[in-house]
Amino acid sequence: MEKEITGIVIKKTAIHEYDAFVKVLSKEGIVDLYCKGVNKPESKNRNALNLLDVSNFEIFIPKDNQFNHRLKRATLIKQFPYDSNLLNIQTQLLHWFNLIKSENCELLIEWYIELNKYWKTNKDYKIYTFLLFKILQAEGINPYLNGCVECNKTEDIVSFALYKGGYLCQKHAINQPIMNVGILKSLFYLDKTFELYASNVSHEDNKTIFKLIIEYLTELI
Ligand SMILES: [Zn+2]
Repeated sequence: MEKEITGIVIKKTAIHEYDAFVKVLSKEGIVDLYCKGVNKPESKNRNALNLLDVSNFEIFIPKDNQFNHRLKRATLIKQFPYDSNLLNIQTQLLHWFNLIKSENCELLIEWYIELNKYWKTNKDYKIYTFLLFKILQAEGINPYLNGCVECNKTEDIVSFALYKGGYLCQKHAINQPIMNVGILKSLFYLDKTFELYASNVSHEDNKTIFKLIIEYLTELI
């Protein structure tokens, strides 16, 4: 059987002299590919298999072994920029992508492709936070961002907790820390376009939101 998938290269392990095992985060979750000859200098596929690149993969799946996905052809769609300032984000993104268990990653992949053009435009940590939120959503965590998660009220919002499922009003923020209005307003944009998030959220508030998401993700996956 043959199949085509679009996905992000999230791990690459060289084996034998010229072959590699490649892990791809596809729209249907993580897929392992055996890639023959891709480390030969003349391989046409090798330039589409670098970490964090998005590529289209033509795959062959033998009838007698459904788990043995073999790469036929890889075509680069978006290249992750090579930049020493992005090395930290690159390492961390790879860490989180490799932990994804969801088989419903279509939106995450679409956002990842869409945000590619913003790398190196002084928004790198905002892109990273935004993508982490999309990982949360892929894993089924969809916080309510239109009012208090308990009573739907839009006034007197004083806190936010991922484990509670969203915003909390004064009445329902029992035992919750009262949060800064700027952070509460900024959280609203996580579920909007990246342009809105990037232009409405300060670098400082992005850091706080980043910490909130990382703390929750660490427990979740
Ligand atoms: Zn409430």
